[in-house]
Amino acid sequence: MFHQITTSLPNQTTSLFTRHEPSNISPILLSPHSRLRIRKLLSGSPRNRSSIAGKIPPAVVMAETVVVFDFDRTIIDGDSDRWVVTQMGLTQLFEELRPTLSWNSLMDRMMLELHSQGKTPSDIAECLHKAPIHPRIVAAIKSAHTLGCDLRIISDANQFFIEWILEHHDLLGCFSQIDTNRTVIDEEKRLRIFPYHDLSSPHDCNLCPLNMCKGLVIDQIRAIAAESGRRRFIYLGDGSGDYCPTLRLSKGDHVMPRKNYPLWKRICSNQTLIKAEIHEWSNGEELEKILLHLINTRTTEEITIDNGNHLGR
Ligand SMILES: [Mg+2]
Ligand SMILES: [Zn+2]
Repeated sequence: MFHQITTSLPNQTTSLFTRHEPSNISPILLSPHSRLRIRKLLSGSPRNRSSIAGKIPPAVVMAETVVVFDFDRTIIDGDSDRWVVTQMGLTQLFEELRPTLSWNSLMDRMMLELHSQGKTPSDIAECLHKAPIHPRIVAAIKSAHTLGCDLRIISDANQFFIEWILEHHDLLGCFSQIDTNRTVIDEEKRLRIFPYHDLSSPHDCNLCPLNMCKGLVIDQIRAIAAESGRRRFIYLGDGSGDYCPTLRLSKGDHVMPRKNYPLWKRICSNQTLIKAEIHEWSNGEELEKILLHLINTRTTEEITIDNGNHLGR
């Protein structure tokens, strides 16, 4: 069942929108080259990442909430792969090769093409900085982080694209983990993109592409989150790849599909399969309003579940 949220945001939350957290991470991310040296450090646990960024843990208001974002057409308005392909003049080659390669392999091939044209990873990063992102989504992410939520990304884009865009908008430090296709810059300074899953031991999910099953990723996140007492999930996405993780959400969780996009259409086709509460959104203002309302509000059902847990101890 779809839930409409009409309540206005509490003043306390509104006042957080303009807050800009100090970030000590930017100076060491100035070039893709220096970035690579710290990637290994950053790829560890969320705790490692926070300490590297020098962040002081935010006030823990809703510490039990994990917010999982898709990236393309959810955090940014469009698709980062398509953005780079069109902005860097690869549309024709991309369309020619599209029938012959998986999306993941095709994007790796596009990066090799850019290298052969003399384009560097810095040129790609500069292009990524111009990718449109709605200001209210930037604000929503910063507010959710300040409120103490554990923010994560599961995306079929890639590490290089996502991290450069987030860093440009001072958002990288808000996320404890980003699960996406791996990237490296090789010795010839070529950006290479690799599948998230090891293709030699393929997953058996028939809903997802071979390189990434987001449902498997969210299962892992849920298992780890449960150990630290985080048990309420809010999942935001737009694409057909977001349907698999949506099916794995439980009662008491929330899914926020972007209205009129493939995930929303799939959910609408049979809502009885979805255990989480469904909250549709169309633009940055709606995403911000609904997300912060959910973070600040606990449903009767959640309180009941929580009381049940207390009684069971
Ligand atoms: Mg998407
Ligand atoms: Zn799957």
